[in-house]
Amino acid sequence: MKLAYVGLPCQLQALRKLQLFSSEMEQSWMHSVELAIGLFCRENWAYTCLRALVEDDYGIKLSDVDKFDIKKGKMLLYRGGEVLQEIPLPETKPYVRAACEVCLDFSAELADLSVGAVGTPPGYSTVIVRTRQGMELLRAAEQEGYVEVRHISEVKPGTKLVVKLTREKRDENLAEAERRAKEGYPARHIATMGERELSRIVEESKGRSFNDLERHVIDAGMCIACGTCVAVAGDVLEMVEERPRLKQGVAGDAVLEKAYLACPRTSLPSMLMAEELEKEVEVKSDSLGRYIDVFAVRATEKAQLSHWQDGGAVTALLLHALQSGRIDGAIAAMRDENWRPVPVFVRTPEELRATAGTLYCYVTNMPLLREVSSQ
Ligand SMILES: Cc1cc2nc3c(=O)[nH]c(=O)nc-3n(C[C@H](O)[C@H](O)[C@H](O)COP(=O)(O)OP(=O)(O)OC[C@H]3O[C@@H](n4cnc5c(N)ncnc54)[C@H](O)[C@@H]3O)c2cc1C
Repeated sequence: MKLAYVGLPCQLQALRKLQLFSSEMEQSWMHSVELAIGLFCRENWAYTCLRALVEDDYGIKLSDVDKFDIKKGKMLLYRGGEVLQEIPLPETKPYVRAACEVCLDFSAELADLSVGAVGTPPGYSTVIVRTRQGMELLRAAEQEGYVEVRHISEVKPGTKLVVKLTREKRDENLAEAERRAKEGYPARHIATMGERELSRIVEESKGRSFNDLERHVIDAGMCIACGTCVAVAGDVLEMVEERPRLKQGVAGDAVLEKAYLACPRTSLPSMLMAEELEKEVEVKSDSLGRYIDVFAVRATEKAQLSHWQDGGAVTALLLHALQSGRIDGAIAAMRDENWRPVPVFVRTPEELRATAGTLYCYVTNMPLLREVSSQ
C-alpha cells in the first residue's frame, strides 16, 4: 500500500522518527507513507478546549460554525461566508495544548511538501518543496492542470513572513523549554535534536516502562497525542481522551522499550531525520529548514473542489497523486457536525475532496496509519 499522510509538524516528527528507527522497532508499516504533507502550525487546541472557548466563553454553538481560520492575530469563525465571531488570539492562549509550547517547528521541516497560508495572497497556499518526490508531484499536478503554480518571488508577502513566524515560534518555545527544565521538566526532544549517535538514543530507551513515558512526556505536558506509542504497542496501550494509557491489567512498570523509543518527545534527532530526506537532491538550508524551493499554489477548476482552506493546494495535489496512481489512498482529517476531529483513510476522489479544510484541533492518526498500512 502506497499512502500519503497529512499532518502537523509534530506529527511529521513522529512519522520520521518511526521511519528512522523502524528496524530497532522490528516494524515496517511506517514505510508505506510515500508522500508526507505537513501543515504550517503555530499551535493547536484540544477539542474539549476549543469547545469550551467557543461555546462557553462566546456562547456560539460549534454546529453553527462552518469554517475556522486564523488571520492577523485573530481566530475567525465563519457562517455562510460571513464572519460570525472574531476571537483575539491572546484570548485563546489559555486553551492551547501545553505540548505546543515546547515545539520548535513552524513549517513542518520533515515533510515532502509543507503547506500553509502565510507568505501568499488570499486564495493561494504557500508550498515549501523539500524533497524530490514533493517536486515531482507539484510539477506533474501543474502539468495535468490540477494546480496553478507561481514562484514565491512573484507574489507578496513572500517568505519573509514565514521566516519571521518560524523564528518567533522557535525563540518563544525555547525560552519556555528552559523555564520548564528549571522546574524539573526537561524537554528531552529538544536536548537530542543535534544527536547523531542513534545507538545512544536506543540505549536510553532500554528498560523503560509506561511509568517513564508518563513522567517524561505525558504528565510533563510534552505529549502531542499523536498515538505513536499506541501504534507500536497497541496490545498494551490505548488512547483515551487524547491521552495514552495502559490497558487494564498491565503493570505500569512493565518494560515498554519500543513505545518509549518511538515517542517523538523522548528524543528527536531531527537534524539527522532532515538529512535522510533529500539524499538525491540539492537543497537550501536556512530558517525554513532544508528545502528545494517555495511556491504559491492554488487548485484549479479541474480539481473540482467544493470547499478548501487557503488555496486548496493540499487537496488538489493529493487528488492528482491518487488519480495518477502515485498513492492508493491518504490519511487525512475530517470533522463531525460539532467539529470533533476524526482521522480518516480515504481512497476515492470524492472521499478526498470531503477532507479539505483546516481543523484547529489535534487529530490522533498514528494508530489508523498502522491499521491501514498493515492491511
Ligand atoms: C492546527 C493547525 C494550525 C495551523 N496554523 C497555521 C499557521 O499558523 N499559519 C499558516 O500559514 N497555516 C497554518 N495552518 C495551515 C492552514 O490552516 C492550511 O491547512 C494550509 O494552508 C493548507 O491549506 P489548503 O487550502 O492548501 O488545504 P486544503 O486543500 O483545504 O486541505 C487541508 C488538508 O489538511 C488536513 N487537515 C486539516 N486539519 C488537520 C489537522 N488538524 N490535522 C491533520 N490534518 C489536517 C485535511 O484533512 C486536508 O487534507 C494550520 C493548520 C492546522 C491544522
